[in-house]
Amino acid sequence: MSFSLKTKNELARIISHERCCQLAEFAALIRMDGTVQISAYRRVSLSVTTENAAVARKIFKLAKELFNMKTEILMYRKNRLKKNNVYSIRIPPQPQVGKVLQLLGLMDESLRWRTHAQDLFPHELVEKPCCKRAYLRGAFLGGGSVNNPEGTYHLEIITHSKFHAQTIARLMHDYDLKAKISERKNWYVVYLKESEQIVNCLNILGAHQALFAFENTRIMKEMRNQVNRLVNCETANLNKTVNAAVRQLEAINVIESTIGLHRLSPGLKQVAELRLAHPDISLKELGEMASPPIGKSGVSHRMRKLENLAHKLRP
Ligand SMILES: [Zn+2]
Repeated sequence: MSFSLKTKNELARIISHERCCQLAEFAALIRMDGTVQISAYRRVSLSVTTENAAVARKIFKLAKELFNMKTEILMYRKNRLKKNNVYSIRIPPQPQVGKVLQLLGLMDESLRWRTHAQDLFPHELVEKPCCKRAYLRGAFLGGGSVNNPEGTYHLEIITHSKFHAQTIARLMHDYDLKAKISERKNWYVVYLKESEQIVNCLNILGAHQALFAFENTRIMKEMRNQVNRLVNCETANLNKTVNAAVRQLEAINVIESTIGLHRLSPGLKQVAELRLAHPDISLKELGEMASPPIGKSGVSHRMRKLENLAHKLRP
């Protein structure tokens, strides 16, 4: 089961005790995945589709508890190749449907359709912090997904309405979540990219099990990356040592083939001979082999002199 699906299943099981929050979440679910049908004689029905069984149950339950509405759930296969079931919750024409449309801001108090309903949002629904969270939870259940933290960090909620995407982003901003919006074909994507922000968002939505799983994976991943970085760093140091030794040997060979090592001062000559005899030892070890022994910085100093000399002698 994907991380996203696990998170949704966890969130779908949360039923708020407060009516205000239930209304907010129900409104978000309908706004994300619902359609309004108007038949002859202006009879209005609603239907909401989802691929998640737990979400379907939640919509069914909320419709019953909040408005005591008659609802039907239909289940069908999207197509024969895909195994996913699609659940369609149909709310047939009944007086309460008007109340739902009022709740969504689509109808006014006297049950007249509002014009430009697209751009209307019932802000009183999300005035309280508890309701803001519930609304975001509904929006996530309706059109959200979150990547497995093993991969790239990404949480998103997609909607067809630019206005609704902006509303969702604004609600997230109220919780200091730096949500951004991008366009994808005919969709608007509200997304978070940073791991810390995703953790905060899961917390706000109430997905605590998903949050712990996310954190565990993230910590393991970061430890693994840190170990890799250390290993790379050591390899890099080793390469540096090897490169230095190769450079020193080249310099000594130049001196030997031009003026000869016997023309060097005894101190430089000794270091040059030791390097030729032991190409792969460190400067510290090389110093210990000298008589009298010399420190690492002393050896390094002499090596630099040899390299400078070779540079002048180089044809
Ligand atoms: Zn509330």
